[in-house]
Amino acid sequence: MDSNIKCIGVLTSGGDAPGMNAAIRAVTRGAIFNGIRVFGIYRGYKGLITNEIEEFKTNSVSNIIQQGGTILKTARCDEFKTKEGRAIAYENMQKHGIEALVVIGGDGSLTGAAIFSSEYNIPIVGLPATIDNDLNATDVTIGYDTALNTIMEAMDKIRDTATSHERLFFIEVMGRNCGYLALNSAIASGAEAAIIPEISMEKDQLAELIEQGFRKSKSSSMVLVAESPVTGGAYNLAERVKKQYPQYDVRVTILGHLQRGGTPSAQDRILASRMGVASIQALIENQRSVMIGIRENEITYVPFRRAIKKERAISEELLEVLRISSI
Ligand code: ADP
Repeated sequence: MDSNIKCIGVLTSGGDAPGMNAAIRAVTRGAIFNGIRVFGIYRGYKGLITNEIEEFKTNSVSNIIQQGGTILKTARCDEFKTKEGRAIAYENMQKHGIEALVVIGGDGSLTGAAIFSSEYNIPIVGLPATIDNDLNATDVTIGYDTALNTIMEAMDKIRDTATSHERLFFIEVMGRNCGYLALNSAIASGAEAAIIPEISMEKDQLAELIEQGFRKSKSSSMVLVAESPVTGGAYNLAERVKKQYPQYDVRVTILGHLQRGGTPSAQDRILASRMGVASIQALIENQRSVMIGIRENEITYVPFRRAIKKERAISEELLEVLRISSI
């Protein structure tokens, strides 16, 4: 049975990711196309509590598909983690007649959405937007492809100087506790190795690399490091090498926040547009508490509790590709 939702709100929350604007645009236009009013909520859950909410028309989202960041701004909001904070958020939704939400963000934002949805029985659909690609049950997240391309371009530049000076570079990338960004960046940029949390748990990857002499045939090398307490980060690894193997001329580059910015890639714009339109379809079909996922290029609905489970395994095939192609 189709729902008769007449008014929704859309927000972006947590870490920003390129393609969030394309998602806001598709949600807004998808809703209006289906005769549903849309309110833009600023600064994530914070704006729901502080009532920074305004109605969006089709031209509110004109000329944004190509922009990085998010026109709705994003924030982290501790107040939303409290019952009192969520009660104010609910009151503000009611004031505007907002009956359902589309939440665009990472696992933290979707965790908040799951709690809010069950507490007040509100239909909420989540769109996975994070450069980390750390959500379960979707092949990719909005922003991941753009970040990969940004890292690849930076790596190409680092390679020029690494080769000229015959240096060993440790390049740290984001990813929290997930090594996908580091592993795929290493493959795409022809790096020697990726030190990632999933493997660091099991063995000392640095010791293994040194034993192999990094890449025997080459005097320079680049090693991707996922930023995580488990890997210890690029600076720690570089310090270890400097102390134990002074023959290596070691340098560190932390790519930092530049990984989050920039014009979204075609793939991210298309993904965000598909997911945005799908979120409205999901609400019309009476779905609630689901994340829009993508599997084998098909849109899927994933219950929040499955999407935010921390069980995403690293691909053995990708590890093998890096191992073989970097000999
Ligand atoms: P991301 O969505 O990028 O993973 P965060 O983990 O910082 O980012 O989460 C974004 C926001 O989601 C938090 O600031 C908070 O407002 C909300 N949130 C996260 N976890 C919870 C929770 N357990 N309960 C309620 N809200 C939460």
